[in-house]
Amino acid sequence: MTESGKSGSKKREGKDPLDSLRIGAVEEEKKMKPGPPVKTANCTHRKRCGGCQYSELPYAEQLGIKEKRVRRLLGAFGPVQPIVGAEEPLYYRNKVTASFGFRNGKTIMGIYEQSTHKIVPIDHCLIQNREADRVTHIIRKLCISFKLKAYDEATGYGLLRHVMIRTAHRTGEIMVVLVTVSPILPSAKNFVKALRERCPEITTVIQNINPQRTSMVLGPREKVLFGKGYIEDVLCGLRFRISSGSFYQVNPVQTERLYQTALALAGLKKTEIVLDAYCGVGTIGMIASQFAGEVIGVELNGDAVRDAKVNARQNQIDNISFYANDAGVFLDDLSRTGKRIDVIFMDPPRTGSTEAFIESACGVRPSRIVYISCNPETLARDLRIFKRYRYKAEVIIPVDQFPLTEHVETMVLLSRK
Ligand code: SAH
Repeated sequence: MTESGKSGSKKREGKDPLDSLRIGAVEEEKKMKPGPPVKTANCTHRKRCGGCQYSELPYAEQLGIKEKRVRRLLGAFGPVQPIVGAEEPLYYRNKVTASFGFRNGKTIMGIYEQSTHKIVPIDHCLIQNREADRVTHIIRKLCISFKLKAYDEATGYGLLRHVMIRTAHRTGEIMVVLVTVSPILPSAKNFVKALRERCPEITTVIQNINPQRTSMVLGPREKVLFGKGYIEDVLCGLRFRISSGSFYQVNPVQTERLYQTALALAGLKKTEIVLDAYCGVGTIGMIASQFAGEVIGVELNGDAVRDAKVNARQNQIDNISFYANDAGVFLDDLSRTGKRIDVIFMDPPRTGSTEAFIESACGVRPSRIVYISCNPETLARDLRIFKRYRYKAEVIIPVDQFPLTEHVETMVLLSRK
Protein backbone atom coordinates (compact mmCIF):
# COMPACT_ATOMS: atom_id res chain seq x y z
CA MET A 1 0.00 0.00 0.00
CA THR A 2 2.60 2.51 1.14
CA GLU A 3 4.90 1.36 -1.60
CA SER A 4 2.26 1.83 -4.24
CA GLY A 5 1.64 5.30 -2.91
CA LYS A 6 5.34 6.12 -2.93
CA SER A 7 6.01 4.78 -6.38
CA GLY A 8 2.88 6.57 -7.47
CA SER A 9 4.18 9.91 -6.25
CA LYS A 10 7.58 9.29 -7.87
CA LYS A 11 5.95 9.35 -11.25
CA ARG A 12 4.84 12.88 -10.61
CA GLU A 13 8.42 14.15 -10.49
CA GLY A 14 9.15 14.47 -14.16
CA LYS A 15 10.21 10.88 -14.91
CA ASP A 16 8.34 8.58 -17.25
CA PRO A 17 4.88 8.73 -15.69
CA LEU A 18 4.32 5.02 -16.14
CA ASP A 19 7.62 3.73 -14.72
CA SER A 20 6.28 2.71 -11.36
CA LEU A 21 3.41 0.99 -13.01
CA ARG A 22 5.56 -1.02 -15.36
CA ILE A 23 7.53 -2.35 -12.41
CA GLY A 24 4.27 -3.22 -10.67
CA ALA A 25 2.90 -4.87 -13.73
CA VAL A 26 5.98 -7.03 -14.28
CA GLU A 27 5.83 -8.21 -10.67
CA GLU A 28 2.17 -9.02 -11.04
CA GLU A 29 2.81 -10.80 -14.28
CA LYS A 30 5.40 -13.03 -12.64
CA LYS A 31 3.00 -13.80 -9.84
CA MET A 32 0.12 -14.79 -12.04
CA LYS A 33 1.91 -17.48 -14.06
CA PRO A 34 0.33 -19.88 -14.78
CA GLY A 35 -1.95 -20.58 -11.78
CA PRO A 36 -3.11 -23.98 -10.58
CA PRO A 37 -5.09 -25.96 -13.14
CA VAL A 38 -8.76 -25.86 -12.35
CA LYS A 39 -10.27 -29.28 -11.91
CA THR A 40 -13.89 -29.15 -12.90
CA ALA A 41 -14.82 -32.79 -13.07
CA ASN A 42 -16.81 -32.37 -9.88
CA CYS A 43 -18.83 -29.38 -11.10
CA THR A 44 -21.87 -31.20 -12.34
CA HIS A 45 -24.02 -28.08 -12.34
CA ARG A 46 -22.05 -26.13 -14.90
CA LYS A 47 -24.49 -26.20 -17.79
CA ARG A 48 -27.69 -25.38 -15.91
CA CYS A 49 -26.19 -22.97 -13.40
CA GLY A 50 -24.34 -20.97 -16.04
CA GLY A 51 -22.37 -19.02 -13.43
CA CYS A 52 -18.90 -20.21 -14.47
CA GLN A 53 -18.51 -20.04 -18.23
CA TYR A 54 -14.80 -20.91 -18.18
CA SER A 55 -14.64 -23.53 -15.43
CA GLU A 56 -13.49 -26.24 -17.85
CA LEU A 57 -10.50 -24.24 -19.04
CA PRO A 58 -7.04 -24.18 -17.42
CA TYR A 59 -6.62 -20.92 -15.54
CA ALA A 60 -3.86 -19.55 -17.78
CA GLU A 61 -6.18 -20.02 -20.76
CA GLN A 62 -9.00 -18.17 -19.01
CA LEU A 63 -6.65 -15.27 -18.38
CA GLY A 64 -5.55 -15.29 -22.01
CA ILE A 65 -9.15 -15.06 -23.25
CA LYS A 66 -9.95 -12.17 -20.91
CA GLU A 67 -6.83 -10.24 -21.79
CA LYS A 68 -7.56 -10.69 -25.49
CA ARG A 69 -11.10 -9.43 -25.04
CA VAL A 70 -9.88 -6.31 -23.27
CA ARG A 71 -7.30 -5.73 -26.01
CA ARG A 72 -9.95 -6.13 -28.70
CA LEU A 73 -12.44 -3.77 -27.04
CA LEU A 74 -10.05 -1.21 -25.60
CA GLY A 75 -6.74 -1.53 -27.43
CA ALA A 76 -7.59 1.42 -29.67
CA PHE A 77 -7.84 3.75 -26.66
CA GLY A 78 -4.39 3.11 -25.20
CA PRO A 79 -1.78 0.48 -24.25
CA VAL A 80 -3.18 -2.64 -22.56
CA GLN A 81 -0.95 -4.25 -19.92
CA PRO A 82 -0.89 -8.01 -19.16
CA ILE A 83 -3.84 -9.17 -17.06
CA VAL A 84 -3.28 -9.42 -13.30
CA GLY A 85 -4.28 -13.00 -12.48
CA ALA A 86 -5.28 -14.56 -9.16
CA GLU A 87 -2.99 -16.88 -7.26
CA GLU A 88 -5.97 -18.88 -6.04
CA PRO A 89 -8.76 -18.95 -8.61
CA LEU A 90 -11.11 -21.17 -6.57
CA TYR A 91 -13.50 -20.52 -3.65
CA TYR A 92 -13.01 -16.75 -3.68
CA ARG A 93 -16.59 -15.41 -3.53
CA ASN A 94 -17.24 -13.84 -0.15
CA LYS A 95 -20.97 -13.41 -0.84
CA VAL A 96 -23.08 -16.48 -1.41
CA THR A 97 -26.81 -16.57 -2.06
CA ALA A 98 -28.79 -19.80 -1.90
CA SER A 99 -32.42 -19.80 -2.99
CA PHE A 100 -34.99 -22.08 -1.44
CA GLY A 101 -37.94 -23.78 -3.09
CA PHE A 102 -39.90 -26.99 -3.50
CA ARG A 103 -39.59 -29.93 -5.78
CA ASN A 104 -41.83 -32.98 -5.43
CA GLY A 105 -42.88 -31.85 -1.98
CA LYS A 106 -39.25 -31.57 -0.79
CA THR A 107 -37.32 -28.44 0.21
CA ILE A 108 -34.53 -27.79 -2.25
CA MET A 109 -31.71 -25.27 -2.09
CA GLY A 110 -29.53 -23.96 -4.88
CA ILE A 111 -29.22 -21.13 -7.31
CA TYR A 112 -31.54 -19.94 -10.02
CA GLU A 113 -30.94 -21.44 -13.43
CA GLN A 114 -29.68 -18.73 -15.76
CA SER A 115 -32.47 -16.23 -16.62
CA THR A 116 -35.17 -18.31 -14.89
CA HIS A 117 -36.68 -18.80 -11.45
CA LYS A 118 -36.01 -22.56 -11.52
CA ILE A 119 -33.73 -23.64 -8.73
CA VAL A 120 -30.73 -25.79 -9.62
CA PRO A 121 -29.81 -27.72 -6.49
CA ILE A 122 -26.10 -27.19 -5.77
CA ASP A 123 -24.12 -29.36 -3.40
CA HIS A 124 -20.70 -27.87 -4.05
CA CYS A 125 -19.63 -24.71 -5.84
CA LEU A 126 -16.11 -24.07 -7.13
CA ILE A 127 -16.05 -20.33 -6.59
CA GLN A 128 -18.01 -19.76 -3.40
CA ASN A 129 -16.26 -19.39 -0.06
CA ARG A 130 -16.23 -22.89 1.40
CA GLU A 131 -17.28 -21.87 4.87
CA ALA A 132 -20.24 -19.94 3.44
CA ASP A 133 -21.17 -22.98 1.38
CA ARG A 134 -21.05 -25.11 4.52
CA VAL A 135 -23.34 -22.69 6.37
CA THR A 136 -25.97 -22.87 3.61
CA HIS A 137 -26.03 -26.65 3.92
CA ILE A 138 -26.37 -26.45 7.70
CA ILE A 139 -29.31 -24.08 7.25
CA ARG A 140 -31.02 -26.40 4.79
CA LYS A 141 -30.82 -29.24 7.32
CA LEU A 142 -32.00 -27.03 10.16
CA CYS A 143 -34.99 -25.96 8.06
CA ILE A 144 -36.08 -29.57 7.92
CA SER A 145 -35.71 -30.13 11.67
CA PHE A 146 -37.39 -26.80 12.54
CA LYS A 147 -40.10 -27.39 9.92
CA LEU A 148 -39.25 -24.05 8.40
CA LYS A 149 -40.84 -24.25 4.96
CA ALA A 150 -39.33 -22.86 1.81
CA TYR A 151 -41.49 -20.28 0.06
CA ASP A 152 -43.25 -21.62 -3.00
CA GLU A 153 -43.67 -18.90 -5.63
CA ALA A 154 -46.41 -20.85 -7.40
CA THR A 155 -48.72 -21.34 -4.39
CA GLY A 156 -47.56 -18.54 -2.10
CA TYR A 157 -47.11 -21.17 0.63
CA GLY A 158 -44.07 -21.28 2.93
CA LEU A 159 -41.70 -18.69 4.36
CA LEU A 160 -37.99 -18.89 3.49
CA ARG A 161 -36.96 -17.47 0.12
CA HIS A 162 -33.19 -17.11 0.23
CA VAL A 163 -30.20 -17.34 2.49
CA MET A 164 -27.38 -14.90 1.93
CA ILE A 165 -24.00 -15.41 3.57
CA ARG A 166 -21.24 -12.80 3.66
CA THR A 167 -17.80 -13.72 4.93
CA ALA A 168 -15.01 -11.36 5.94
CA HIS A 169 -11.71 -12.59 4.58
CA ARG A 170 -9.35 -11.07 7.18
CA THR A 171 -11.48 -11.06 10.33
CA GLY A 172 -13.27 -14.37 9.69
CA GLU A 173 -16.64 -12.85 10.64
CA ILE A 174 -19.72 -14.38 9.00
CA MET A 175 -23.11 -12.77 8.35
CA VAL A 176 -26.20 -14.86 7.74
CA VAL A 177 -29.27 -13.23 6.19
CA LEU A 178 -32.50 -15.25 6.19
CA VAL A 179 -34.80 -13.74 3.58
CA THR A 180 -38.43 -14.48 4.37
CA VAL A 181 -41.64 -13.54 2.63
CA SER A 182 -43.33 -12.32 5.85
CA PRO A 183 -42.05 -10.94 9.15
CA ILE A 184 -43.03 -13.82 11.44
CA LEU A 185 -40.25 -16.36 11.88
CA PRO A 186 -41.37 -19.08 14.32
CA SER A 187 -38.70 -20.34 16.77
CA ALA A 188 -36.26 -17.71 15.50
CA LYS A 189 -34.29 -17.72 18.76
CA ASN A 190 -33.80 -21.47 18.84
CA PHE A 191 -33.05 -21.58 15.15
CA VAL A 192 -30.25 -19.04 15.59
CA LYS A 193 -28.95 -20.89 18.64
CA ALA A 194 -28.81 -24.19 16.77
CA LEU A 195 -27.12 -22.47 13.84
CA ARG A 196 -24.45 -20.90 16.01
CA GLU A 197 -23.79 -24.16 17.81
CA ARG A 198 -22.99 -25.72 14.46
CA CYS A 199 -21.05 -22.71 13.21
CA PRO A 200 -19.64 -20.47 15.97
CA GLU A 201 -17.90 -18.25 13.40
CA ILE A 202 -21.27 -16.67 12.62
CA THR A 203 -21.14 -13.23 14.23
CA THR A 204 -24.48 -11.85 13.08
CA VAL A 205 -27.84 -13.20 11.89
CA ILE A 206 -30.37 -10.98 10.16
CA GLN A 207 -33.91 -11.62 9.00
CA ASN A 208 -34.71 -9.70 5.85
CA ILE A 209 -38.34 -9.45 4.81
CA ASN A 210 -39.04 -9.49 1.11
CA PRO A 211 -42.76 -9.82 0.33
CA GLN A 212 -42.43 -8.68 -3.29
CA ARG A 213 -42.55 -10.76 -6.45
CA THR A 214 -39.14 -9.74 -7.61
CA SER A 215 -35.81 -11.14 -8.70
CA MET A 216 -34.08 -8.91 -6.13
CA VAL A 217 -32.90 -11.08 -3.23
CA LEU A 218 -33.25 -8.54 -0.43
CA GLY A 219 -36.36 -6.63 0.57
CA PRO A 220 -36.45 -3.22 2.24
CA ARG A 221 -37.00 -4.31 5.89
CA GLU A 222 -34.75 -6.22 8.23
CA LYS A 223 -34.55 -7.39 11.84
CA VAL A 224 -31.31 -8.25 13.57
CA LEU A 225 -31.78 -11.65 15.22
CA PHE A 226 -28.26 -11.93 16.61
CA GLY A 227 -25.10 -9.82 16.81
CA LYS A 228 -24.37 -6.36 15.47
CA GLY A 229 -26.27 -6.55 12.19
CA TYR A 230 -23.10 -6.12 10.13
CA ILE A 231 -19.67 -7.67 9.71
CA GLU A 232 -16.28 -6.01 9.49
CA ASP A 233 -13.42 -6.80 7.16
CA VAL A 234 -9.93 -5.40 6.70
CA LEU A 235 -8.82 -4.23 3.28
CA CYS A 236 -5.44 -2.60 2.56
CA GLY A 237 -4.95 -2.14 6.31
CA LEU A 238 -8.27 -0.34 6.95
CA ARG A 239 -11.37 -1.76 8.65
CA PHE A 240 -14.69 -1.70 6.84
CA ARG A 241 -18.21 -2.27 8.12
CA ILE A 242 -20.43 -4.14 5.68
CA SER A 243 -24.22 -4.24 5.97
CA SER A 244 -26.40 -6.81 4.25
CA GLY A 245 -27.36 -4.46 1.40
CA SER A 246 -24.07 -2.63 0.84
CA PHE A 247 -21.93 -3.35 -2.18
CA TYR A 248 -18.62 -4.96 -1.29
CA GLN A 249 -16.20 -6.46 -3.80
CA VAL A 250 -16.68 -10.24 -3.98
CA ASN A 251 -13.04 -11.30 -4.33
CA PRO A 252 -11.15 -9.86 -1.36
CA VAL A 253 -7.63 -10.95 -2.36
CA GLN A 254 -7.86 -9.53 -5.87
CA THR A 255 -9.58 -6.41 -4.55
CA GLU A 256 -6.47 -5.48 -2.58
CA ARG A 257 -4.44 -5.78 -5.77
CA LEU A 258 -7.02 -3.80 -7.68
CA TYR A 259 -7.01 -0.95 -5.19
CA GLN A 260 -3.23 -0.91 -4.82
CA THR A 261 -2.86 -0.68 -8.58
CA ALA A 262 -5.53 2.04 -8.76
CA LEU A 263 -3.59 4.02 -6.17
CA ALA A 264 -0.31 3.54 -8.01
CA LEU A 265 -1.99 4.74 -11.20
CA ALA A 266 -3.35 7.87 -9.55
CA GLY A 267 0.01 8.85 -8.03
CA LEU A 268 -1.65 11.14 -5.48
CA LYS A 269 -0.02 14.15 -3.88
CA LYS A 270 -0.75 15.19 -0.31
CA THR A 271 -2.23 18.47 -1.49
CA GLU A 272 -4.67 17.00 -3.99
CA ILE A 273 -8.46 16.86 -3.79
CA VAL A 274 -9.97 13.55 -4.82
CA LEU A 275 -13.48 12.49 -5.80
CA ASP A 276 -14.44 8.83 -5.21
CA ALA A 277 -17.50 8.40 -7.42
CA TYR A 278 -19.74 5.32 -7.03
CA CYS A 279 -17.88 4.79 -3.75
CA GLY A 280 -19.91 1.98 -2.11
CA VAL A 281 -18.87 1.73 1.56
CA GLY A 282 -15.99 4.12 0.86
CA THR A 283 -13.16 1.64 0.35
CA ILE A 284 -11.19 3.31 -2.46
CA GLY A 285 -11.67 6.82 -1.10
CA MET A 286 -10.55 5.91 2.38
CA ILE A 287 -7.45 4.13 1.15
CA ALA A 288 -6.71 7.14 -1.08
CA SER A 289 -7.30 9.60 1.77
CA GLN A 290 -3.98 8.59 3.34
CA PHE A 291 -2.16 10.00 0.32
CA ALA A 292 -4.38 12.99 -0.49
CA GLY A 293 -5.38 16.34 0.99
CA GLU A 294 -9.12 15.76 0.88
CA VAL A 295 -11.49 13.09 -0.45
CA ILE A 296 -15.17 13.40 -1.35
CA GLY A 297 -17.20 10.21 -1.83
CA VAL A 298 -20.56 9.93 -3.59
CA GLU A 299 -22.83 6.90 -3.73
CA LEU A 300 -26.52 6.30 -4.50
CA ASN A 301 -27.20 3.59 -1.89
CA GLY A 302 -28.04 5.24 1.45
CA ASP A 303 -27.05 2.15 3.51
CA ALA A 304 -23.63 2.10 1.89
CA VAL A 305 -23.13 5.82 2.60
CA ARG A 306 -24.11 5.27 6.23
CA ASP A 307 -21.51 2.47 6.44
CA ALA A 308 -18.95 4.69 4.70
CA LYS A 309 -19.37 7.45 7.29
CA VAL A 310 -18.99 5.00 10.18
CA ASN A 311 -15.98 3.46 8.46
CA ALA A 312 -14.25 6.82 8.16
CA ARG A 313 -14.81 7.56 11.84
CA GLN A 314 -13.61 4.11 12.95
CA ASN A 315 -10.45 4.44 10.92
CA GLN A 316 -9.92 7.96 12.29
CA ILE A 317 -9.93 9.47 8.83
CA ASP A 318 -10.99 13.08 9.00
CA ASN A 319 -10.20 14.35 5.51
CA ILE A 320 -13.09 12.50 3.84
CA SER A 321 -16.81 13.25 3.45
CA PHE A 322 -19.58 11.17 1.89
CA TYR A 323 -22.77 12.11 0.10
CA ALA A 324 -25.80 9.99 -0.84
CA ASN A 325 -26.69 11.08 -4.36
CA ASP A 326 -26.58 10.18 -8.02
CA ALA A 327 -22.93 10.63 -9.01
CA GLY A 328 -23.83 12.70 -12.12
CA VAL A 329 -26.22 15.05 -10.30
CA PHE A 330 -23.76 15.46 -7.43
CA LEU A 331 -20.82 16.29 -9.67
CA ASP A 332 -22.91 18.70 -11.70
CA ASP A 333 -23.88 20.55 -8.48
CA LEU A 334 -20.30 20.43 -7.23
CA SER A 335 -18.91 21.87 -10.46
CA ARG A 336 -21.23 24.88 -10.07
CA THR A 337 -19.65 25.69 -6.70
CA GLY A 338 -16.24 26.03 -8.39
CA LYS A 339 -14.75 23.32 -6.15
CA ARG A 340 -11.36 22.11 -7.36
CA ILE A 341 -11.03 18.37 -8.06
CA ASP A 342 -7.58 17.04 -8.99
CA VAL A 343 -8.21 13.33 -9.30
CA ILE A 344 -11.36 11.27 -9.84
CA PHE A 345 -11.70 7.59 -9.04
CA MET A 346 -14.84 6.19 -10.64
CA ASP A 347 -16.13 2.66 -10.21
CA PRO A 348 -19.63 2.48 -11.70
CA PRO A 349 -21.86 -0.62 -11.92
CA ARG A 350 -21.92 -2.90 -15.01
CA THR A 351 -24.09 -0.45 -16.92
CA GLY A 352 -21.20 2.01 -16.84
CA SER A 353 -21.34 5.74 -16.24
CA THR A 354 -23.52 8.32 -17.96
CA GLU A 355 -22.83 11.05 -20.46
CA ALA A 356 -24.00 13.56 -17.84
CA PHE A 357 -21.46 12.32 -15.28
CA ILE A 358 -18.62 12.23 -17.80
CA GLU A 359 -19.45 15.72 -19.03
CA SER A 360 -19.44 17.08 -15.46
CA ALA A 361 -16.29 15.09 -14.62
CA CYS A 362 -14.40 16.60 -17.55
CA GLY A 363 -15.93 19.98 -16.72
CA VAL A 364 -14.14 20.13 -13.35
CA ARG A 365 -10.89 19.48 -15.25
CA PRO A 366 -9.18 16.89 -13.02
CA SER A 367 -5.65 16.14 -14.17
CA ARG A 368 -6.16 12.35 -13.79
CA ILE A 369 -9.15 10.03 -13.75
CA VAL A 370 -8.86 6.38 -12.70
CA TYR A 371 -11.80 4.47 -14.15
CA ILE A 372 -12.43 1.00 -12.68
CA SER A 373 -14.93 -1.03 -14.64
CA CYS A 374 -16.42 -4.52 -14.44
CA ASN A 375 -17.73 -4.34 -18.00
CA PRO A 376 -15.29 -3.60 -20.85
CA GLU A 377 -18.17 -2.96 -23.28
CA THR A 378 -19.65 -0.05 -21.32
CA LEU A 379 -16.11 1.07 -20.53
CA ALA A 380 -15.36 1.32 -24.28
CA ARG A 381 -18.54 3.36 -24.77
CA ASP A 382 -17.54 5.71 -21.94
CA LEU A 383 -13.92 6.04 -23.11
CA ARG A 384 -15.24 7.25 -26.44
CA ILE A 385 -17.04 10.06 -24.61
CA PHE A 386 -13.95 10.88 -22.54
CA LYS A 387 -11.96 11.11 -25.76
CA ARG A 388 -14.34 13.77 -27.06
CA TYR A 389 -13.49 15.81 -23.97
CA ARG A 390 -9.75 15.26 -24.63
CA TYR A 391 -9.13 12.74 -21.86
CA LYS A 392 -6.80 10.05 -23.11
CA ALA A 393 -6.16 6.53 -21.76
CA GLU A 394 -2.52 6.40 -20.60
CA VAL A 395 -2.68 2.77 -19.59
CA ILE A 396 -5.28 0.01 -19.39
CA ILE A 397 -4.88 -2.88 -16.94
CA PRO A 398 -7.19 -5.90 -16.83
CA VAL A 399 -7.51 -7.60 -13.43
CA ASP A 400 -9.09 -11.00 -12.87
CA GLN A 401 -11.56 -10.40 -10.07
CA PHE A 402 -13.83 -13.24 -11.16
CA PRO A 403 -11.88 -16.43 -12.04
CA LEU A 404 -13.81 -19.21 -13.79
CA THR A 405 -16.36 -16.72 -15.09
CA GLU A 406 -16.25 -14.67 -18.28
CA HIS A 407 -16.21 -11.40 -16.33
CA VAL A 408 -13.19 -9.16 -16.26
CA GLU A 409 -12.36 -6.02 -14.33
CA THR A 410 -10.42 -3.26 -16.10
CA MET A 411 -8.67 -0.21 -14.80
CA VAL A 412 -7.82 2.80 -16.93
CA LEU A 413 -5.74 5.87 -16.15
CA LEU A 414 -7.01 8.86 -18.12
CA SER A 415 -5.30 12.19 -18.28
CA ARG A 416 -6.18 15.53 -19.84
CA LYS A 417 -4.45 16.42 -23.08
N1 SAH B 1 -16.20 1.60 -5.36
C1 SAH B 1 -16.93 0.66 -4.57
C2 SAH B 1 -18.28 0.25 -5.16
C3 SAH B 1 -18.33 -0.08 -6.61
S1 SAH B 1 -19.81 -0.86 -7.18
C4 SAH B 1 -16.09 -0.55 -4.25
O1 SAH B 1 -15.05 -0.78 -4.86
O2 SAH B 1 -16.46 -1.32 -3.37
C5 SAH B 1 -20.73 0.43 -7.85
C6 SAH B 1 -21.45 1.26 -6.82
O3 SAH B 1 -22.13 2.30 -7.55
C7 SAH B 1 -22.51 0.55 -6.00
O4 SAH B 1 -22.25 0.77 -4.64
C8 SAH B 1 -23.84 1.23 -6.42
O5 SAH B 1 -24.75 1.35 -5.35
C9 SAH B 1 -23.34 2.59 -6.87
N2 SAH B 1 -24.20 3.30 -7.84
C10 SAH B 1 -24.97 2.79 -8.81
N3 SAH B 1 -25.53 3.78 -9.54
C11 SAH B 1 -25.10 4.95 -9.02
C12 SAH B 1 -25.33 6.33 -9.36
N4 SAH B 1 -26.11 6.67 -10.36
N5 SAH B 1 -24.70 7.26 -8.61
C13 SAH B 1 -23.89 6.92 -7.58
N6 SAH B 1 -23.64 5.63 -7.22
C14 SAH B 1 -24.24 4.66 -7.93
